[in-house]
Parts: sequence; C-alpha cells; structure tokens
Amino acid sequence: MALDDPISAYIAESNMDALHAQRFLESEGVEAYVVEDNEAFGHTFFGALPGIFKPQVWISRRDSVLASKLLAEYERLKAERDASRKANEPQTIEVLCEDCGKTSAFAGSLNGTTQTCPHCRGYVDVGHFEWPYGDEVGGSEDATGWEEGGNPES
Ligand SMILES: [Zn+2]
Repeated sequence: MALDDPISAYIAESNMDALHAQRFLESEGVEAYVVEDNEAFGHTFFGALPGIFKPQVWISRRDSVLASKLLAEYERLKAERDASRKANEPQTIEVLCEDCGKTSAFAGSLNGTTQTCPHCRGYVDVGHFEWPYGDEVGGSEDATGWEEGGNPES
C-alpha cells in the first residue's frame, strides 16, 4: 500500500488495537496502514528501543482532518465497549453443590475455577466449564435406552 505523504495518526495499545483502528478508518474511506511493533517503518532517529516503539496507524496527510475525527469516534466506541464488557461480568456466580444440594454464591472473578462448598467442604465448579462428555447433559426424558423394533419384555 502506498500512502501519499504518510503521517502517524494513531498510536495503539496493541497490534490488535491498531488493526481495529485501521479497519475503522478504511470502512470510512480513509486509506490506512498499520506498522506493528515488530516492524520498522523506514528509519527511526532513535534506533532500536525495545518496548518503546508501539504499533501505529499511518495515513496520508491529506486525510488527517477526517482521520482525526474518525479516530476520536473510534476511541469513544472502544471506551464504551470496554465499559460494557466490564458491566457484563457477573458480580457473583451461584453454584449448586452436587454433594449437599445447597447453593452458594462465589465472586465473579472465580469464574472457571474449582472451589470448596462452604456447607459440606466438597469441591464445586464455579461458572461454566466445557462438558467433556459431549451434549448428553440434561438429555430428553424419552431416552429410555430401548431400541427401535426391540422387545422390552423378555
Ligand atoms: Zn456442599
């Protein structure tokens, strides 16, 4: 991609952030180019400074006014998304103990961990786990094990 008089429009927190910003700009018709933090864009006056060079989004100077508006919008959307992601995290998770049948509440930060039941000291799984045995959980009630055409009376 060849930019006309390229300037750095956005310094990103991560390569992912830079790519999102680039896609946002391009979706609005601004040609943009990401320089990831493991590349060098031409020569830098500072030489190699590990940990200081951050991924950046470069644009053409003629797009700079539009791009700065769009990037302000991008920053706002990103902040909103981060805020809603935090708001969606559960504060507490209710867990039904299989040993004693009592329900306990655990902090949302313990999602995906194994804790001890406060009632019977048995182990309980907090939050959602991948069930290792396929989709047989909560199977339908007509699963009697009888096979089609078989004779249940022996
Ligand atoms: Zn228990």
